[in-house]
Amino acid sequence: MLAVLRQIAQEIDLAGDLPSALRIVARCVRVAMQVHLCRIYLVDHKRQQYVLMAFDNNDSLPTPSQSVALDEGLLGLVAERVAPVAHLNLTAAEGDNKKLAFLGVPIVYHRQVLGVIAVEEANHRIFSEDEEAFLVTLAAQLAGTVVHARDMGFIFRAEVTPLEATCLQGIPAVAGVVIGHAKVIYPPADLDAIPDRHITDVAAETKRFNAALDSARLYIIQLQQRLEPTLPKEEQYLFSAYLQVLNSTELKADICTEIAAGQWAEGALRRVIKKHVLQFSGMTDHYLKERAEDILALGQRVLYHLQEKTEEPITYPQKTILIGEKLTAADLANVPTGLLCGVVSYSGSGNSHVAILARALNVPTIMSAAGLAVAELEGKLMVLDGYHGCLYVEPSPKLLQKYTLWAEEERQLDKKLQALRHLPSETSDGRQVTLLLNASLESDAALALTVAASGVGLFRTEISFMNKPQFPTETEQRNLYNQILRAFAPRPVTMRTLDIGGDKALPYLPTREDNPFLGWRGIRFTLDHPDIFLMQLRAMLSASDGLHNLHIMLPMVTSVEEVDEAMQLLRRAYAEVNEQGFNITMPKVGVMLEVPAAIYQIEALAKRVDFFSVGSNDLAQYILAVDRNNARVCDRFDTLHPAVLRVLHDAVEKAHACHKPISLCGEMASDAVAAVLLLGLGFDQLSMNAGILLRIKWIIRTIPYEQAKELVQHILLFDDAALIRREVEKMLDDAGLGGLIRAGRK
Ligand code: PEP
Ligand code: MG
Repeated sequence: MLAVLRQIAQEIDLAGDLPSALRIVARCVRVAMQVHLCRIYLVDHKRQQYVLMAFDNNDSLPTPSQSVALDEGLLGLVAERVAPVAHLNLTAAEGDNKKLAFLGVPIVYHRQVLGVIAVEEANHRIFSEDEEAFLVTLAAQLAGTVVHARDMGFIFRAEVTPLEATCLQGIPAVAGVVIGHAKVIYPPADLDAIPDRHITDVAAETKRFNAALDSARLYIIQLQQRLEPTLPKEEQYLFSAYLQVLNSTELKADICTEIAAGQWAEGALRRVIKKHVLQFSGMTDHYLKERAEDILALGQRVLYHLQEKTEEPITYPQKTILIGEKLTAADLANVPTGLLCGVVSYSGSGNSHVAILARALNVPTIMSAAGLAVAELEGKLMVLDGYHGCLYVEPSPKLLQKYTLWAEEERQLDKKLQALRHLPSETSDGRQVTLLLNASLESDAALALTVAASGVGLFRTEISFMNKPQFPTETEQRNLYNQILRAFAPRPVTMRTLDIGGDKALPYLPTREDNPFLGWRGIRFTLDHPDIFLMQLRAMLSASDGLHNLHIMLPMVTSVEEVDEAMQLLRRAYAEVNEQGFNITMPKVGVMLEVPAAIYQIEALAKRVDFFSVGSNDLAQYILAVDRNNARVCDRFDTLHPAVLRVLHDAVEKAHACHKPISLCGEMASDAVAAVLLLGLGFDQLSMNAGILLRIKWIIRTIPYEQAKELVQHILLFDDAALIRREVEKMLDDAGLGGLIRAGRK
């Protein structure tokens, strides 16, 4: 069965769309299990029914029903039990009194039944455990494909709402409401990621494809000529084989037929290449089987040239809502200043760096949205509701009016809070909590004037590394850092050294790791690259020339040796910059507490550095063992988890016992509920996004420190995050701050 499973998995992978994949599965299952009928139903949750998607029948059994109620018969039993159901002596429908044997297994994803694969046999038969395991494996393989098709709107498309707009649902990641136009961003050349897209100008599309084919051919010829002197004769046949494929009239004709049927060149290429790959990989001859790889590689090459040709500079609408299947922080950083007003990513969670950057930019964001193919959204007018995670495509005037009003209410609350700008961030019983800013871009220098922050608590330097074609030079870095330091002086600016890795990849330094969040991140990378680290340290130090407001912070610290090494390099950079005649003082240095191990080494670390700052995003991720970027588990990521709160409590106690200040610069500081607890836990400083700062100041000026402290003592005994949230929300409500937890409105 393993060989059959592999073959089916490959065929599913190569099928152009879900219905074809399901038809292949139904056929393979019927043949492999030697049954009379295999049918595959998918659940349409809106209509609460199974819909027949594919069946394969040897004609001895009647055609199955097109749809079945979700709670009806044996299929209903499979959904109810979320487990395989085997049944003998089933009486056939339609008056046929023959006995049937039935085996149905659910297609399950994230605890939800997506459909059923059912087989039936007209003769008396008991299905073996092996056969059941075969179907269970197949269903598990199919689940991801079904979910992707559903999320992309290929099946059970997004519904038209009563307010007359197509509504896509996702994870609310950055609150706020915005009305703008969609700009779709596609990942670089990857045949698998190419969606279907309808075109009308067949001649232009065919011309585009022919040009790409010519370029691919030329590329292979040039490669062949360049390598001829060095490559052994027997290896050179490869190029002739490649050219043979590219010159194949059959391949070209197939692609042109797809284009003539209205498919764009990229989609036509994907469909035909996959079909050919499938044919070759199914061959028993070893040599021919391996040609499948060549065809795939050539398909990628033609795609590269197709995309190269279309690689005009991207034009962004005035009010851009950026949309992509898998947006990266770099995609956001590439949008010219002032144009980005919303972000929708089909993958990731509210804790992904795309969402974090969007929050820093104060741009409403939805993650893991689903319902329509991204290509269909290009240029469309849409309303993004970041509070509820809804994206309305082509909204009706009525809906537009509702959201315009709502956005206005938001503005009114922010306007009202402006009155707090120049008031101290101090509780009514005299506790000061310094509010700082999280920043990352050149344009953030302007925030120095507009936001009443006491400085920058976290400057994420890696963002400026992401929108470049290579590592920025020392001068480029110095200019950027100087701009920020100057804008905020004399207020302190805490610059974090390069923190790449995890989901923050540099486009020019691709690294593949099985567990990137446990891998080459932050200080682990920079210590392995003293060249890059020293360059950045020198740039930071020289940028602070005459300003004396630079603080430096080290990310992802796990052990004291890392700090010792980093300090050594810092001293070296300091000496070098001093020698150049700059007027600088040695900056204060801090360690980010984001790996649990660091918290339990605070005493040792305190002997080496001046301050601590909790990176609650990573700290919670590592305490809870939940990948903060993974939409499948992100509902388990909760910074109010009792274990996280207890670790934070320990961190503050330990830092204060060593007489060191401690701040928190993760997203937790921007959550109104968490902020009350951070006040009560005794944090000295909180660092957050510009858009939220006055709201948090409102909390600090409203809730007395002693009351927050008492609340913390009380909730530290709780063992349920939901209970903790409810308790704090009640306090906010009682204090008249309920508007902060209900979509920002009073
Ligand atoms: C954190 O982990 O909380 C943090 C502030 O760093 P990052 O940039 O990894 O989110
Ligand atoms: Mg971090």
